[in-house]
Amino acid sequence: MKTIRLAHLYPKLLNIYGDSGNILTLKKRCEWRNIEIVVDEINIGSPISEHDIYFIGGGQDLQQIEVSKELYKHKNFLEQERDKGAVFLGICGGYQLLGHYYQPHIGEKLKGISLLDAYTIGGNKRFIGNVTVKTELGTLVGFENHSGQTYLQGETKPLGKVVIGNGNNGKDKTEGARYKNVFGTYLHGSFLPKNKNFADYILELALGEKLEPLDDKIENITHQSLINKAY
Ligand code: GLN
Repeated sequence: MKTIRLAHLYPKLLNIYGDSGNILTLKKRCEWRNIEIVVDEINIGSPISEHDIYFIGGGQDLQQIEVSKELYKHKNFLEQERDKGAVFLGICGGYQLLGHYYQPHIGEKLKGISLLDAYTIGGNKRFIGNVTVKTELGTLVGFENHSGQTYLQGETKPLGKVVIGNGNNGKDKTEGARYKNVFGTYLHGSFLPKNKNFADYILELALGEKLEPLDDKIENITHQSLINKAY
């Protein structure tokens, strides 16, 4: 039996809008295929060992301050993991910390770990609402709530083009980011239960092989109904 090792980074601090639903989806989609998945929760002070997937959720600026300091201690190790091909998925506040920095509208700049060539600056308006994004994996759908505006540079590319909502910064119509196997997105709600194509894609990257399809009738109906509601 194959095993995937997943590290859930700082779930006690970064976990809003049901971000733990992302972990549940990865677990279930592995179990349904007879793939073993081990989830390790990494909290403040925990060491981090090698994993196939690293997940970091969203949160408020206050929680991000503590996580930013802790995460920075593991920057070199996580950079090595990225360069070995490990998969990272950051949602909203977690996404912001995968870039170079997050400068809140008020308060001090928080260091990121630069796994993505991106930076985030807090604006004076919040982007709140449903989002749909056209990507190579089809339309992604989710809910955004952030004041941070993220800008991508260099080899870091967006996940897709915003159709509804604001995405990375409300200006350039981009949403999310990818560099190597590091992914970031502003989509909450939870992201992966709403977008099973993306869940399977990151599992395939972690395993290094194609997955057998599942009976996704319910997932497909749900996905489509959420897209319809976003309009
Ligand atoms: N604090 C960040 C912002 O508002 C992230 C919010 C979130 O994770 N939902 O930009």
